[in-house]
Amino acid sequence: MNLARKLWQRGRDLLPVAGFHFDRPLVLLQSDDWGRVGLRDREGLEQLQSAGMALGERPYDFYTLEAAEDLASLGAALKRHRDFGGRHPCVGMNFILANLDFRKMSADDFREIHLLCLAEGLPMGWTRPGLMEAYREGIADGVFYPALHGTTHFCRSAVERNAKAGGERASLLRTLWQASTPYIHWRMPWIGYEYWDPEKPKHERFLPVETQNELIGQTVGAFAQLFSSLPRSACAPGYRANDDTHRAWAQHGIRVAQNGPGALMPPHFDRHDILNLSRTVEFEPATDASFSVEACLQQAESCFEHGFPAIVSVHSINFHSTVRDFRSRTLQLLDEFLTVLESKYPDLLYLHDEDLYELVNRGSYKASPGKVNVTRKNFTKANVVRQRTV
Ligand SMILES: [Zn+2]
Repeated sequence: MNLARKLWQRGRDLLPVAGFHFDRPLVLLQSDDWGRVGLRDREGLEQLQSAGMALGERPYDFYTLEAAEDLASLGAALKRHRDFGGRHPCVGMNFILANLDFRKMSADDFREIHLLCLAEGLPMGWTRPGLMEAYREGIADGVFYPALHGTTHFCRSAVERNAKAGGERASLLRTLWQASTPYIHWRMPWIGYEYWDPEKPKHERFLPVETQNELIGQTVGAFAQLFSSLPRSACAPGYRANDDTHRAWAQHGIRVAQNGPGALMPPHFDRHDILNLSRTVEFEPATDASFSVEACLQQAESCFEHGFPAIVSVHSINFHSTVRDFRSRTLQLLDEFLTVLESKYPDLLYLHDEDLYELVNRGSYKASPGKVNVTRKNFTKANVVRQRTV
């Protein structure tokens, strides 16, 4: 069975796939984890410290939640930039559509997981005045583009199993939950990702197709409740998506799948007619100790040389500011990055995922200021894997 699966995978990677190439520099920004609460600001930090947790070892110890002010600053920074057609850069924001309902969970002595949809507000202990309005304002201004991440970031069955088992892991969960923090992933990778349970045998890690289908249906519903529109682009938590995930996405109207960084690959369709995009520029100053604008510029240039869009990965933590100010430095570096790109490539265009989907299907997109030539060239995934980004 395993051998058959491996051979099938290898065979599939050797088949030619039509990749899309573009004759102008295109830039997309993709950003994960919006709407997902973490450390409950200064108060949560103090509470967890007094419970004996030594926070501060890694940046994600200071992952909190964006505030309206963070979004306003990001929006203002984006509005200082324009492409060839006068359009601002647009951050594709992948949303987590629910948080843990700490009020219900504590009433139940944390025996069970209860969820609270983002559209209904934030959980007990959390306040973010004007946050929902700030998301919507940025979307209306065309500087934010909302997309699907998940309902939860973690694998619900993995967390429930560990919470029920007692012991050290269960007590870590309880300590965090009492401080209105759902988890800190690097301290507990056994929580997995929404569609992926890391402690199952290798070939059972992805949730069954029916479970994924049901989850994705719910997530799309929660997205529609919040934004009064349907999502067209999706990125699986932890980039853990399989063929079943893509099939379920397609059934629920998703047209674009965002894949993680690591492979320099052109946009291409999969067998569910979903346009697959791979991130090619890692712009993560908050978490990458070796970050440099220069390296990001090189990555973008390498994409343009290949005729690929530069797809920039920048997680939401980079814009957080309530416990540690990641935002100021990120915005300064982003400004520098975009300024250099615009001056070096005057014909550059800023797009979001849905624009790119329109472009490959129709040869133009709503805001396109002029002609972008799209050509198809076959490639094989087996050859791409070795061709890493710089
Ligand atoms: Zn994520």
